[in-house]
Amino acid sequence: AATLAERMNTLGTETAFEVLARAGQLAAQGKDIINLGIGQPDFRTPEHIVEAACKALRDGHHGYTPAAGITPLREAVAADVSRRTGAEVDPMTVLIVPGGKVTMFFAALLYGEPGAEILYPNPGFPIYESVIRFSGATPVPIPLLEENGFAFSAEDVLSRITPKTRLIMLNSPANPTGGAVPKAEFDKLVQGLQAYPEIVVMSDEIYGQMLYDGREHVSLLSYPEMRDRVILLDGWSKTYAMTGWRMGYSIWPKAILPHAEKLAVNCHSCVNASAQYAGIAALTGPQQAVRDMVAAFAGRRQVIVDELNAIPGFRCVEPGGAFYAFPNVEGTGIPTKQLQTRLLEEAGVAVIAGTSFGKHGEGYLRFSYANSTENIQEAMRRIRTMLSA
Ligand code: PLP
Repeated sequence: AATLAERMNTLGTETAFEVLARAGQLAAQGKDIINLGIGQPDFRTPEHIVEAACKALRDGHHGYTPAAGITPLREAVAADVSRRTGAEVDPMTVLIVPGGKVTMFFAALLYGEPGAEILYPNPGFPIYESVIRFSGATPVPIPLLEENGFAFSAEDVLSRITPKTRLIMLNSPANPTGGAVPKAEFDKLVQGLQAYPEIVVMSDEIYGQMLYDGREHVSLLSYPEMRDRVILLDGWSKTYAMTGWRMGYSIWPKAILPHAEKLAVNCHSCVNASAQYAGIAALTGPQQAVRDMVAAFAGRRQVIVDELNAIPGFRCVEPGGAFYAFPNVEGTGIPTKQLQTRLLEEAGVAVIAGTSFGKHGEGYLRFSYANSTENIQEAMRRIRTMLSA
C-alpha cells in the first residue's frame, strides 16, 4: 500500500460532517431525521445575492481573479467591517478565501511549527486543534466552563502564555457553546497582551452578528493597539446563509498579508469569481434578511433552552450568541458519544457529542437550533421518549 506522509496522523476532523453523512444515509433509507447536528442556517441565501452571482456568470466573469479577491469586494469588506467595528480597515489588508475555515489553516501554517505553542478554546471549533497539530505546534487549550457561561476571561488566556506562545485563537460568540465574552473582559485581555507584543491573535468572529438579549459584538479589531497583530476571521457562511458558497474573508496585519496571499496562490488561486460578486451584493445590499434570521434564531433559542432544561438529566445555560445550545447531559448517565449515536440511530435526531469539540466537551451535547421551531419541538419529544424508554 502507498505510504502516507507522517503529518497526516496529526490532522483531526469535524464530526458534524460525519454525522451529516450518516444522517443522509438514514434519510435515504426512508428514516425521518431531524438534523440539529450541522451548523448552518436553514434559510436560503437571500434572492438578491443569488441574482448577483447569476448576473456575474451571464456577464462573463468566468476567469481567475486576483488571488486576494476582486478589488470592489475587498473594498466592500473593509467598509462593512469599519462600519460594524469602528476600526479603520485598509482594503489591501483583506483576503478573500473559500470559507472561514481557510483562515485558521493559514494562520496555523504561518505561525505554527515544532516548539511553538498556540492557544485555542476548548471546547471549541474542532478545526483549531486539528490545524495546530498539523502545523507541528503544541495546542494549549483555554478551557471554557459552563459556570462562566462558556466565556473565557482575560486571565484564562493570559495565564497560559509562555515564552513559546506564538498565536492565540479566540472565538466569540462561540461554537459549540454559544458563549459570548463581555467587552470588559476583552478590555482586560487587550491590556494584558500589551506585555507580549510578539504574540498574534486570530479572532474568529464568524458569529459576530448573532447575539441575543441586546448583547453587542466586540471585535478585537476595534482596539487600535491590536491592529498590527490581529487576524480577523469572518465570512458570509453564517450571516448570509451561504455555507455552500464557500465564501470567507480575513483581515491581516499589513506586513503579513503577502504571506497569507502566497498560501492562497499555492492552494486555491482565487475564490469562485461569481461568488465574489454575490459577496458584494450581500454586504452592500439590504440587510433586512440578516435581521430576520437573527430574530428567528432568538425565538428558537428560547424554545430549545426551555425544552432542553425540561429533559430529565439535561441542564442548559442560555447561550449569548451563535445558534447552538450546549446542554450538560451527565445526568442521563450515558457517555456523550454513545448518546450522540443513539439519538441519531434510535430517535432520528442528529446532534454532536461535546467531545468532538475537545476534551473539555465531555458531558455535553451540541444542538444547532438553525432549524424550524416545529422540528426542534419534535426532536425534543423524541429525545424524551427515547430516554424514558
Ligand atoms: N468558525 C467557526 C467558529 C465555525 O463554527 C465555522 C463553521 O461552522 C467556521 C469558522 C467555518 O465557516 P466556513 O463554513 O465559512 O468555513
